[in-house]
Amino acid sequence: MSWRIQRDSDRRHLLPQSRPTDGKMGYSPGGKSCRLYGLEYMLESDAIMESVGTPTERDAAMAPDRKRRLILASPRGFCAGVERAIDIVNLALDTYGKPLYVRREIVHNVCVVSELRTRGVAFVEELEEVPEGSRIIFSAHGVSPEVRRAAAARRLKVIDATCPLVMKVHSEADRYAREGFTIILIGHADHDEVIGTIGEAPLAIKVLGRAEDVDRLSVPDPEKVAYLTQTTLSLDDTRQMISRLRARFPHIQGPPSDDICYATQNRQHAVKELARRVQLVLVVGSSNSSNSRRLVEVAVNAGVRAHLIGAADELRLSWFENAWCIGLTAGASVPERLVEEVIGRLRELGFPEPEHSGGIVEDVQFALPPDLVRDSRACSPPAFQELAPARAR
Ligand code: SF4
Repeated sequence: MSWRIQRDSDRRHLLPQSRPTDGKMGYSPGGKSCRLYGLEYMLESDAIMESVGTPTERDAAMAPDRKRRLILASPRGFCAGVERAIDIVNLALDTYGKPLYVRREIVHNVCVVSELRTRGVAFVEELEEVPEGSRIIFSAHGVSPEVRRAAAARRLKVIDATCPLVMKVHSEADRYAREGFTIILIGHADHDEVIGTIGEAPLAIKVLGRAEDVDRLSVPDPEKVAYLTQTTLSLDDTRQMISRLRARFPHIQGPPSDDICYATQNRQHAVKELARRVQLVLVVGSSNSSNSRRLVEVAVNAGVRAHLIGAADELRLSWFENAWCIGLTAGASVPERLVEEVIGRLRELGFPEPEHSGGIVEDVQFALPPDLVRDSRACSPPAFQELAPARAR
């Protein structure tokens, strides 16, 4: 029999004692201590404990000796589009100074945005909040042509941090629309990236969020249909939707190369591999990060428990009941520093140094906007030098 703390707030009242026990978890109701992962904890308050049962067969098979392990997925964390977007903001700040505006979150990560805000960047939702003639950066998720026109009308100095792989989807939408196709855009209608892509051809694009909705689609000419996808979707779900679309529209056309980007694909493959080897997968990422949420879904679909955490202090002790083999990964907008903080917290909970799983080595880099590079070279050589030469071409 094992136990868990019922109220998460109670974990703050636990003080670890460095006395190892038998490695099991136990608690004597009414007592003043409990055992968790081989460490004895003194209870400072009346923490409520409840039974959570015994390990499953899968858990027992995973690590019969119950030796704690922590395995890191690879690749994980920052992709080339996110790195480029954050570099653009930092370099623009060093080059032009304040005020510097960014429309929406530059990437979907709370910590990244908060650090940039601390440096003096002003984040806005809409262009009306930006004084005319100011400098503004468009986020990695891209914007619609209407937003570009509105920026020009306000004489804003625009720096575009849209990921080149998102721009590729915009160009495909524009091309298909000009050729008279109805475009089925597979994605989440409320995501900034999808909103921006719809703006390329609002009359020609229909958003498809669920496979069940394929049958309800109505198009003017079933012979003239094309599909595109958001860059951060689940590979498996998207494949299913495309095959249902093909069944409904046998002549449907698709993009020449996958719209789901290399970083999304690599991180999903890595988490699938990880899920084979662990009992619990932790994904570091913000709740509004599409690719991070997909990593949780991929792990759950592979048959393991998985949780999304924004930072180390969101770890819940109850997750580690009967889980001694843990996998850790991070979404494409997550700095490695946040992963290291989670590793530090897991170390406090008794997990050893992480093992690194092998994986694809990514060497994708996207060049920075040439105007920004030129201005930076002219007025801020030290800041510019810190960037890899290939990025600054
Ligand atoms: S997840 Fe893919 S599309 Fe999105 S910013 Fe990264 S590389 Fe670009």
